[in-house]
Amino acid sequence: MTKKVLILPGDGIGPEIVTEAERVLRAADEKFNLGLEIDHGLLGGSAIDQHGAPYPEETSAKAKAADAILLGAVGGPKWDNIERSIRPERGLLGIRSELELFGNLRPAILYPQLADASSLKPEVVSGLDILIVRELTGGIYFGTPRGIRELENGEREGYNTYKYSESEIRRIGVVAFESARKRNGRVCSVDKANVLEATILWREIMEEVAKDYPDVELSHMYVDNAAMQLVRAPKQFDVMVTGNMFGDILSDAAAMLTGSIGMLPSASLDASGKGMYEPCHGSAPDIAGQGIANPLATILSAAMMLRYSLDMSAAADAIESAVDTVLDKGLRTADIYTDGDVKVSTSEMGAAVVEALAAQ
Ligand code: NAD
Repeated sequence: MTKKVLILPGDGIGPEIVTEAERVLRAADEKFNLGLEIDHGLLGGSAIDQHGAPYPEETSAKAKAADAILLGAVGGPKWDNIERSIRPERGLLGIRSELELFGNLRPAILYPQLADASSLKPEVVSGLDILIVRELTGGIYFGTPRGIRELENGEREGYNTYKYSESEIRRIGVVAFESARKRNGRVCSVDKANVLEATILWREIMEEVAKDYPDVELSHMYVDNAAMQLVRAPKQFDVMVTGNMFGDILSDAAAMLTGSIGMLPSASLDASGKGMYEPCHGSAPDIAGQGIANPLATILSAAMMLRYSLDMSAAADAIESAVDTVLDKGLRTADIYTDGDVKVSTSEMGAAVVEALAAQ
């Protein structure tokens, strides 16, 4: 049976890194006879340029029909000054919300080969394996009313709304507890319940969900402390679950613990397991077009896609092991390079993963 995969390269380094991930996917397809049917679509700035909208109808139809989606990244300075409602990021929020991709899984794993690339001491991060579960379709990024208005005194005021319903909190709680069951059985829920009412409710509902998971240990932490603990003693965490904005920030901090944001994949899932897979980083306009971006986060996202949405674990394991082999050989893109390594370009890194996959 064929499985439809939609690839959305996006902007900036997006097309460069996605090209490598597609090569790896096609190599895995050939090796394991996966029956992948790969199509492409536009999202973000590239879609604005061609269709005048960041999430055009054509992309929406393809996304709904796909079994899984692989995304590069969207955005860049070229579109920073256009009207807010049609900016590239709106396309991303649009597809996440239309497909109800509310559960964002962001693993932060430190590859032993990269312990020196971390900004923290190797003993603090070595063996790190955290899963950040971020709510993705609610909270302050979506809450209304929102905008910039003029006050009576003529001064302008920016405002947003931070809100979460019980059902939104419960379903992300379930994702976190289910994930913890497959890992080390611990969930740390991150909130700001000393200040924000929305997160007082968040804490209450997490406690309720926990009753269905007596085998999983639940703890709570304020977000400011969580940020501190992440850089002080990150190995204390197993699964962290939090809202959209806190998750956005904490997962980037966790990314740096692992040496490079260029190494981290992510999955965004709906209630049935259909998902969109993308690297944790953005479109890196500062290095776009130079052939130096690290494609491994996108390649590892493709592996996650095979595992979580397409039920092709053997191929996912093989891709992850090929990445491991390439790192063992000392191959590094500029962002993870340290003295003594072999510096490679984006396409050389992709080719090396394909080669390691074929050699298995
Ligand atoms: P960014 O993640 O694009 O870049 C941050 C830094 O990390 C930059 O120095 C960049 O060169 C580096 N970097 C990122 N990915 C890399 C890779 N694969 N290999 C090597 N280095 C890498 O974040 P930013 O600069 O804040 O945002 C740039 C643009 O991306 C903005 O338009 C932003 O809105 C957008 N963005 C998109 C997404 C997404 O599509 N999911 C996420 C975050 C930011």
